[in-house]
Amino acid sequence: MSITAAHSLALIGNTPLVRLDFPSRETGCEVFAKCEFTNPGGSVKDRAALFMVEDAEARGQLRPGGTIVEGTAGNTGIGLALVANAKGYRTVIVMPETQSREKMDTLRALGAELVLVPAAPYSNPGHFVHTSRRIAEETDNAMWANQFDNIANRKAHVVGTAEEIWQQMDGRIDGFTCAVGTGGTLAGVGLGLKAHDPNVAIALTDPHGAALYDYYAHGELRSEGSSAAEGIGQGRITANLEGAPIDTQFRIGDPEGLEMVDRLLAEEGLCLGLSSGINVAGAMALARTLGPGKRIVTILCDSGFRYLSTLYDPDWRRAKGLERVAAADSAAA
Ligand code: PMP
Repeated sequence: MSITAAHSLALIGNTPLVRLDFPSRETGCEVFAKCEFTNPGGSVKDRAALFMVEDAEARGQLRPGGTIVEGTAGNTGIGLALVANAKGYRTVIVMPETQSREKMDTLRALGAELVLVPAAPYSNPGHFVHTSRRIAEETDNAMWANQFDNIANRKAHVVGTAEEIWQQMDGRIDGFTCAVGTGGTLAGVGLGLKAHDPNVAIALTDPHGAALYDYYAHGELRSEGSSAAEGIGQGRITANLEGAPIDTQFRIGDPEGLEMVDRLLAEEGLCLGLSSGINVAGAMALARTLGPGKRIVTILCDSGFRYLSTLYDPDWRRAKGLERVAAADSAAA
């Protein structure tokens, strides 16, 4: 038997695409999901991390022995820490203290220096993004990854995710949807798929508390309510979102997203985070909009093992009024 010795970073991307059974059955469409939780850092953000670091290296912004600094809900930090270790850089990650403990423990275990800041609006100078920019400015030979406004992020999805989806779907795809954190995934996959076929419908799936649904529906950034989903929920048009080819939009609430999380586990054997559940609910909404027989793709962003202390903790669910749907109930539904 021969073993191909690829560099560890070659493990990022080329993720499997699976057909989801109940979402297909219940919509009369074929609903597929790109399994981004199988990336080495466990999320869709490994791709952006690798592209942003290699872009900074190519521009001479990051030299040997340098430091990568980023503000992140966690997953980008995990991707950056792995890429940094593989390439010999230090990582400093600034994160709101409201994110899951698992992500913080993971970042520390990977060797990142973790700076926790209180959750604050973007207009507040203490916001995690601004704090990370200041730390990068004050550190020698440091790169600020700036995932929200660094379009090397979405490029990872134009040349990677979108191209893989196009190949895996044999060029037969009618619609794509996902939620937005930075917008790298939605804009990048949208642009990449439209370049192959302008008729592929690209839809935003927005949680409560985010402002993009109203922006794409009525031209006004406006948000209402909140969501427990980590990593998604954007209040502005980031550089990654500029020019994103969005045809339609859906708003998905946490109860619906969590019901999907529970059903994906109970019926499909997939243990996922809440943004994945919201994405699958969005994919079903898009399937119903486009009509029977259509082929729809969405993203499974990260693993549920990252949320054992939240989504998968019955006390957390009770406190949020979001009790788990029993497997037997959902199977019978
Ligand atoms: N889901 C999760 C769990 C995430 O961490 C992120 C990234 N913040 C997203 C979805 C959204 O990805 P993007 O930044 O490409 O919009």
